[in-house]
Amino acid sequence: MAATKASFVLAVHGGAGTIPRHGPAASRAASYHEGLRRALAAGYEVLASGGDALDGVTSAVVALEDNPLFNAGRGSVFSAAGTQEMDACVMEGAAHRAGAVAGIFGPRNPVLAARAVMERSRHVLMIGEGALAFCREAGVAFCEPNYFYTEQRWRELQTALEHRDAEAGGGTVGAVACDRRGNLAAATSTGGRTGKAPGRVGDSAIVGAGAYADNATCAVSATGHGEFFIRYGIGFEIAARLRHAGQALDHAAPAVIGELGALGASGGVVAVDRAGVLSLPFNTEGMYRGFVRECGMIHTAIYDEPYRVRRQ
Ligand code: ASP
Repeated sequence: MAATKASFVLAVHGGAGTIPRHGPAASRAASYHEGLRRALAAGYEVLASGGDALDGVTSAVVALEDNPLFNAGRGSVFSAAGTQEMDACVMEGAAHRAGAVAGIFGPRNPVLAARAVMERSRHVLMIGEGALAFCREAGVAFCEPNYFYTEQRWRELQTALEHRDAEAGGGTVGAVACDRRGNLAAATSTGGRTGKAPGRVGDSAIVGAGAYADNATCAVSATGHGEFFIRYGIGFEIAARLRHAGQALDHAAPAVIGELGALGASGGVVAVDRAGVLSLPFNTEGMYRGFVRECGMIHTAIYDEPYRVRRQ
């Protein structure tokens, strides 16, 4: 999928967990498409009015975090202890600045907490009480616990505990963009995996695993089995194949996701290179995903299927 020069492109995902074609998620397909469209429209507004890639991905991820359908921010899943612990990361590819938070609960939009770490601290990754104190100080908006509670997620935890399912559903939200100046950025945010051990941190908080951006190569946002994405440094691995092996993004990204599948890890990525070429591969039955270019046609899809297209 190639881009026109000096235009922008934005891609988002809403997770690649278990999305059986005939499962409950399928009956809510229209709402997922609508949620993806809203996120793409939010990012589009920013990029169309001259905003940079970092602002574009941040706006898109905020919209996904605010939507309880997706596993991030408001719709975050529960750990085995009944807690909600959120991870998020942002990175921009011009100066390689990055910010991340892990295991936090309270900030309405973990992606804004990650961005505050990037822009207002000397650090890259913050956790625990220190991260929350920093967020308060930085003016990041907080919500009461009941804002994050959804019946659906609570039921999913009960089912996972009943079936002793250590691999119950996950999901993540994320975005990548290339702006008109050729700057790249990535943002990723998640509640993690249902029934995870309290204190577990996934790839979404880890630079080079769940999110990566480098103007010389590409920007990547991942979703899937975080432990594998961390161990294989997936975001960085895709960029490394462009940089060191001269591969094209639409070759490297599907190859890496295919190799992960062969290792038994499920997931996918949305990725964009410095020419605005997109790659959105996944090795699961579906991945909530979409993209929009400067022309304003919003594309969304869930399964391996033709994109639904709407004008922005
Ligand atoms: N990558 C996320 C995590 O491991 C979950 C997912 O995307 O399914 O926390």
